[in-house]
Amino acid sequence: MNDDLSDLFENNRLWSENIRAAQPDFFSTLSKQQAPDYLWIGCADSRVPANEIVNLLPGELFVHRNVGNVVTHTDFNCLSVIQFAIDVLKVRHIIVTGHYGCGGVAASMQDEDLGLITNWLRHIRDIYQRNREAFDALPDEKSRIDRLCELNVKEQVRNVCDTTIVQHAWKRGQKLAVHGWIYGLSDGLVHDLKVTRTGVGT
Ligand code: ZN
Repeated sequence: MNDDLSDLFENNRLWSENIRAAQPDFFSTLSKQQAPDYLWIGCADSRVPANEIVNLLPGELFVHRNVGNVVTHTDFNCLSVIQFAIDVLKVRHIIVTGHYGCGGVAASMQDEDLGLITNWLRHIRDIYQRNREAFDALPDEKSRIDRLCELNVKEQVRNVCDTTIVQHAWKRGQKLAVHGWIYGLSDGLVHDLKVTRTGVGT
């Protein structure tokens, strides 16, 4: 393991230089304002880097990540991100993106106590326990984990939509769509779970 972080500073210097070589005023323009169209709510997993996956530049994607891409009604961190994104940045899309093979989702299915995070993962475990019969019918552990990864995204999309923040935005006619996607670690592709809600008839 490299104890020295100088590589990161060097990487950063080269990254900044490359961008400025292509567009000299990129950072000075960006430093004045951000106007992203999208809020990404994803897993903290290091293999699921939001901007890279959808090939967006700094300034184009507002991001919130936590273990298991969970949205709960008492998490003021996540709720504040959603509120700022909707009320101030006026994003047009919120995308909850889970991923197959999620360690947080897998851990939520186990009985092992992992400490504080076990409480956090309880939100996902609740989904598992509510659908226990459907999971038992699946052929193996991997299918069960991947199914829970999908159901978790759908649940979190519902949670986003149920927040007073999103409800108020829709009531005042603000254009806002909430989507559920899932990302494949093995092929780098995102799939739309087709649970998009726009506030019309929802
Ligand atoms: Zn994950």
